[in-house]
Amino acid sequence: MTSKVARFLADHQPATPCLVLDVDRVEANFRRISAGLPLARVYYAVKANPARPILDRLVALGSSFDAAGIEEIEMCLAAGAAPERISFGNTIKKSSAIARAFAAGVDMFAFDSAEELDKLAQLAPGSRVYCRILVENEGADWPLSRKFGTTVANARTLMLRAAELGLDPYGLSFHVGSQQTTTGSYEAAIGKVAMLFTDLRDAGVNIRMVNLGGGFPVRYREEVPEFGQFADAIMGAMTEHFGNALPEMLIEPGRSVVGDAGVIAAEVVLVSRKDPTDPVRWVYLDIGRFGGLAETEGEAIKYRFTTAHDGGETGPVAIAGPTCDGADILYERSNYRLPLALTAGDRIEILAAGAYTTTYASQRFNGFSPLAEHYV
Ligand SMILES: *Cc1c(COP(=O)(O)O)cnc(C)c1O
Repeated sequence: MTSKVARFLADHQPATPCLVLDVDRVEANFRRISAGLPLARVYYAVKANPARPILDRLVALGSSFDAAGIEEIEMCLAAGAAPERISFGNTIKKSSAIARAFAAGVDMFAFDSAEELDKLAQLAPGSRVYCRILVENEGADWPLSRKFGTTVANARTLMLRAAELGLDPYGLSFHVGSQQTTTGSYEAAIGKVAMLFTDLRDAGVNIRMVNLGGGFPVRYREEVPEFGQFADAIMGAMTEHFGNALPEMLIEPGRSVVGDAGVIAAEVVLVSRKDPTDPVRWVYLDIGRFGGLAETEGEAIKYRFTTAHDGGETGPVAIAGPTCDGADILYERSNYRLPLALTAGDRIEILAAGAYTTTYASQRFNGFSPLAEHYV
């Protein structure tokens, strides 16, 4: 937790649950990522946390933006982002959203199918388009599955078709899966797109960009490689495959820009045991799967907790949320331990919770309010 967040929590004792996020840390992360990969343009993945103070700061820093829908595009524009710095990166777009984005000046769109390409040709004529390739998501704690991307062979067909349709066949993209903990995943994906890139060049297509997506991890319960290690692996692979004829490079970090900038302050509602002889205590918090911690689905993202009792003796726990839904369990199988002194009414902090939390909170399920947010 940054000192600004700690001071805010101590001074204000805000009602829980709430996210407290240090916007200076967002700036530091953006600068570290930009400096680590100086040849890549950074498109912040807005979905990770679209809060206005974050967008304002990133606009001031000269960031570009990866938006998933027209609402996110409008949020970026409202924060002062130039439309030519916004990529409409979702491969699944309503026609009305494409038309509105194009009218607003957005001229860069992702696609992964012939059907979407036809929509773009009709509703965003002449725009820069890039095709998303399906790549392995192994090594990612929050994989993006087979929902997005197409095969290399189909991408080749589609990029040729893009040019025929009067679109600008700008580049290729991939996403190795979120909270990706292996650098090799980027190397493998780069190798895959590089072959197609060269092939399309040889076929006369004016392709010039490779979009490496996001995926860079945040330290939760386990240590992860530094961003520099990903940057080294990426530049190594790019140089190996493209020599000194490097294409334009884009990255779309979301989690790694905002994740460790925020802390969720929560309260322990109940500590109980299923049976007095059971060594496992159940710790129920005032935030759970439906209050913003959606990425605990399948116990995928393993958050780190701190309490005022840290340093004291610990014991095994299951951790759950406050709602009446049986799926509202955060961790039962991941061997969490918390202090034996922890009791109802205690504060508990969930570290590195700045990404993929506020926007995942439900609207009043069981009457609970969406997650409160404080930007400091
Ligand atoms: C979600 C997403 C990102 C951001 O991924 P992170 O793992 O948060 O860095 C980037 N690009 C696209 C297309 C995405 O869908």
